[in-house]
Amino acid sequence: MEQQQRGGRRILVVEDEPTIAESIAVRLRAEGFTVDLAHDGPAAVTAAETTEPDLIVLDVMLPGFDGLEVCRRVQARRPVPVLMLTARTDETDMLIGLGVGADDYLTKPFSMRVLCARVHVLLRRVERTADHGATILVGDLRIDIDQRRVWRADAETQLTPLEFELLVHLARRPRAVLPRERLLSEVWGWADASGTRAVDSHIKALRRKLGADLIRTVHGVGYALEAR
Ligand code: CA
Repeated sequence: MEQQQRGGRRILVVEDEPTIAESIAVRLRAEGFTVDLAHDGPAAVTAAETTEPDLIVLDVMLPGFDGLEVCRRVQARRPVPVLMLTARTDETDMLIGLGVGADDYLTKPFSMRVLCARVHVLLRRVERTADHGATILVGDLRIDIDQRRVWRADAETQLTPLEFELLVHLARRPRAVLPRERLLSEVWGWADASGTRAVDSHIKALRRKLGADLIRTVHGVGYALEAR
């Protein structure tokens, strides 16, 4: 049963270096995935539209336009987990700072074993949310959307409606850095960015109620939920 489900999973690998692309594809196919390949930015966006992948492995430096632009265009149409491949550790830090919407990063060179492990973690995270329908689980944080209830390490916490919306928003994209302006527009519905202090104060409230380690500040950018 599980084998069947895994066999149905489709992964788009976007990488312009043929040997790397091929070895990733070979390994993922051996794991039972259906793999499509794209070698530049525009082809990646087209492939994401036509194949509707369950996950994208995405190199940053690409011909045409880069992986950041691919990520933006693809995510604007349909949310899909993205594992970004970067050339250097400082590039990874930079990308996390930009909050490009990737769910995880891997610095080259990497082992195929590590790549596969990350792929499985990302897919499990998506499944977990889907399986439980209206429940979000991130580490020891549990959110029941229908009942609007929140627990951390099995202790229930009362949140205001706005705090609840903000937490759900962060928890739907764990580890991803969400810019304050985006939170303001998506949670508060404000078009202009003059109210980002409202975001800061509600983050403060969430940390007070659920633990300071739950939400990470990325200075000058925004916040990421880090529950483990
Ligand atoms: Ca490249």
